[in-house]
This record gives sequence, structure tokens and C-alpha cells, in this order.
Amino acid sequence: YTHKFDTAAYKGEATINTGLFIGGKWVDPIEGGSIEVVNPATGKVVTSVAAGTKADVDLAVEAAEKAYKTVWGLHYPGAGRGKLLNKLADLIEKNIDEFAALEALDVGKIFAKAKAIDIGGAVTCLRYYAGWADKVQGKTIETTENKLAYTRHEPYGVVGQIVPWNFPMGMVSWKIGPALATGNTVVLKPSEMTPLTALKLADLINEAGFPPGVVNIVNGYGHTVGQAISEHPRIHKVAFTGSTLTGRKILKASAETNLKVVTLELGGKSPLVVFDDADIDQAVKWASHGIFFNMGQACTAGSRIFLQEGIYGAFLEKFTAIAQDLAAKTGDPFTPGTQHGPQVSQIQFDRIMGYIDSGKSDGATLHVGGERHGSEGFFVKPTIFTDCHPDMKITKEEIFGPVAAVIKFKTEEEAIDLANNTEYGLACHVFSQNVNRAIRVAHALEAGSAWVNCAQFTEISVPFGGYKQSGIGRELGEYALDTYTQVKAVHINI
Ligand code: NAD
Repeated sequence: YTHKFDTAAYKGEATINTGLFIGGKWVDPIEGGSIEVVNPATGKVVTSVAAGTKADVDLAVEAAEKAYKTVWGLHYPGAGRGKLLNKLADLIEKNIDEFAALEALDVGKIFAKAKAIDIGGAVTCLRYYAGWADKVQGKTIETTENKLAYTRHEPYGVVGQIVPWNFPMGMVSWKIGPALATGNTVVLKPSEMTPLTALKLADLINEAGFPPGVVNIVNGYGHTVGQAISEHPRIHKVAFTGSTLTGRKILKASAETNLKVVTLELGGKSPLVVFDDADIDQAVKWASHGIFFNMGQACTAGSRIFLQEGIYGAFLEKFTAIAQDLAAKTGDPFTPGTQHGPQVSQIQFDRIMGYIDSGKSDGATLHVGGERHGSEGFFVKPTIFTDCHPDMKITKEEIFGPVAAVIKFKTEEEAIDLANNTEYGLACHVFSQNVNRAIRVAHALEAGSAWVNCAQFTEISVPFGGYKQSGIGRELGEYALDTYTQVKAVHINI
């Protein structure tokens, strides 16, 4: 399928293969299904891509296992794996406009941001893990007399990777980077809603020179392909990013089959706490980024905003102005100057509007936004609710849209209690000019990432993952290497 882009931001073509990528070749699904890809800015169908089923996952696992046992894994030196990852990163960078255009078309991401953050970030991530590929080392351990012990960090073999739709390329790079660097082979399932960049990547995987079967990409639905990966007896580890509900199903599938190791990056309802002594302009700027970045479709979104009494009025005034400014800059992702795009799908649009209705009927005050933008596509205006109560659905549940729930507080203790009153624990944000308080509160909040006087960004070298029901395990940084290797202890009698 070739898409011709004739937009203000990008004039050019993007060509993708719409099949399944198994053993280095494009194949049709055995049972022949397909899924429509929809442009969220228009609601119109762009193309259809193949949808695999369990039988295709079986073939992909076979190809991945063969590659692991014959050419990859312990057969391919770390430095060589790093070289291939670097080559892949170079090829993505060479085609960065095409990738960004596909991401904008498929997900509704703003083209310039997709280029800088999603695709640029994927390139950085692959290069980072390329650097680690020959630096994964064990330890020598002192033991009893005439004995020597050392450890090896060995790959699992075939790993399954299941990614969501909100950062398709970003999540693929977070997954394949450490998996390939440590010598695993991969069966990857993109989100059925946003498969285009993963399909584009497949051709570059061949061009970079990865042996056939090292990376296999099987597009399809969660309940078919995703479940087949989670239940597969010859997949030894599954890495998943998505909702807590699906994470639970994957953990259950693992428990009921071969006890595969599962790492989960799940949902969140992250607090953003602003104290009276915060730098208000910085706090407002970051809080807006925290909730409206990627149209609120971010797992670390600062969706519960706690404002101390003294700063409440002034913060809200400035925050509202930013929401209105974003609403005025809402539009086509390819138009330069656009700052706010559509939600990914009709389903997400309807879900978000449902939450907005529930906020109104539960007695929260709709401060700004709360309605659709335009007449086509899935646009929701940046929305702020005030007078939110901890028991309301909009305060408790992950909306995954541009909807902020604002709550007033009096004391530091109260803020910590309110912020920790959630089943999630992915991220938290604290704004205060008092360094002691900022650090104290960052430590008291139950979350895997804490941002102090800033919000919602990741660094490839810094671990990322959730407390509580936001996940198990860590991605990024050196930490991810541990989640893709198992430790063998070797004892030697001297
Ligand atoms: P989702 O759980 O519906 O889907 C994620 C992936 O899982 C998709 O590829 C889907 O096809 C697959 N899937 C669905 N059912 C499955 C099953 N039974 N077995 C195996 N796989 C299955 O989530 P989504 O709607 O695509 O993404 C949004 C969610 O992801 C949000 O909750 C968000 O917070 C979370 N998320 C978390 C992170 C993180 O790093 N913590 C990052 C991005 C998104």
C-alpha cells in the first residue's frame, strides 16, 4: 500500500507492506483476515492490513525459535547485535519524515511532534541499547575453597511483545531495543488500531541485515494474536504495554500455561500536586503538558491536579488560558502550528465523551472544554473539571483523554493522602520551590516515576515502570537489560 501525502508539513509517499512479517518474509495470514486502518483526523478508512490468528503466531514462534537456536542468541556476538541495532536506527532516521507521516496518519499525532518525539525517540532508544549489546556482564563470586562461581546473563529465547496504540513506534523501540541487544528473538504484536509504523519498520529490519526470524511482526487483535502470544508454551517471556485489564489477562494466561516471565507497563491516574510556594508559570506550563500532551493519551498523564488553596485561583486562570489556546490551535496534524489533534479512534472519542458526561452528572464543574471540536474526526477540546471529589469516576478512572480533574487541598499531609488514594502508581508530579518539601513529597507518593517541578517525559537511560496496579518490572535504562535476561550461576570445582 502506498500513501501519497500532500500536506503542508510533508509531501511525499509512504509505502508499507500490509501482510504479516514472519521469518524475514511477508506472508498472508493463514485464515486470511484483515483490519481497517482509520485516519482519526477524518474518520475515513486509509487502508486494510492483515490480521493474523493463533496459527500465524505458531509460525512466527517457529521462525523466532529457529533463529534463536541457529544464528542469534548465543551464536551472534554482542558487538554484532549492537551494529545491527545501530544500522536499524540509521535507517529509521533516514526515513524519519515517512515514519512521522505514518504516525500522524494512523494515530492522529501532530506531525512535527511525531518526528521529534516518537520517531526521534525511537532512534535514540535503539542507539542506546546498541551500546549495551556488548556490555551485559555477569559477576565472579567468592565461594568455598577450591570452588569458583560466576554468573551469566543469558537471553530467554523467544520473547513476545505486545504494544498499545498511543506511542506505536516509541513502544516498539522500548521493546525490541533491549530484547535484541541481549540476544532474544522477538514475536511482536502492534496495536490493531495503529500498525503502520511497525509494518514500515519490518522492511528496514531486513535492510539492516538482521537474520530472518530474529524479529517477527504479527498484526492482529488482542483476543486472537495477543492471547496466542500470552499462552504460547514456547515463548518464555512476554513484555506488555497497555491497560491494566489486559495486563491481568496476560498474567493469568502465563500462570495457566508455562509460567512465562511477564513484564507489564499499565495504566495510570497520576497526581500532580502544586503547592502555594511553586513557581506558578512553570507549574502551569508543565501541568498543561502533563495532561494535554498527546491529546491526553499518555499513561503518565497528570490527570488529577491537586492545587493548594493559596495558588488555586491564579493557577486555574492561567491553566484555563492554555486550554483555550490549545483549543484554538486544534486541527489537522499536518498543518504547521497545530498543537492539539484528534483522539485515536471513535471508540476512544466516545469513551472520553462518556467520562465528560459522568463528570457533569456527578456534580463536578465543567470549567472549560468538554465538547467535540469540528464536525469530522475524533477531536475533543482540552477539558478542565473543578470541584472534583475523590469518589467521582473522572477522578478515579483513567480517561486517556485531554480531561483534567482539579481538586483543592489545604495541607501537605492532605495532598499526600489524596494523591495516594488510587489503585494506580505509575507517576507523580510535585511543584514547590521549597526543596525539602519537594523531595519529601516526591518520596511519599506511591509511584514508579516522580517528576519534581516538571512533568511527564522519559529519558532512555532512566528506568520506567509502575507501582501498585500500574505494572510489574521496569523498562528503559540498564534496568531493562535485567528483564530480558535470566541469570545462570556456574559452579566450578577447581
Ligand atoms: P489495551 O490493553 O486495550 O491494548 C494493548 C495491547 O494489548 C494491544 O496490542 C491489544 O491488541 C492487546 N490486547 C488486548 N487484549 C489482549 C489479550 N486478551 N491478550 C493479549 N493482548 C491483548 O490498551 P490500549 O487501549 O491499546 O492502550 C491504552 C492503555 O495502555 C492505557 O491504559 C494506558 O495507560 C496504557 N499504557 C501504559 C503505558 C506504560 O508504559 N505504563 C504506556 C502506554 C500505554
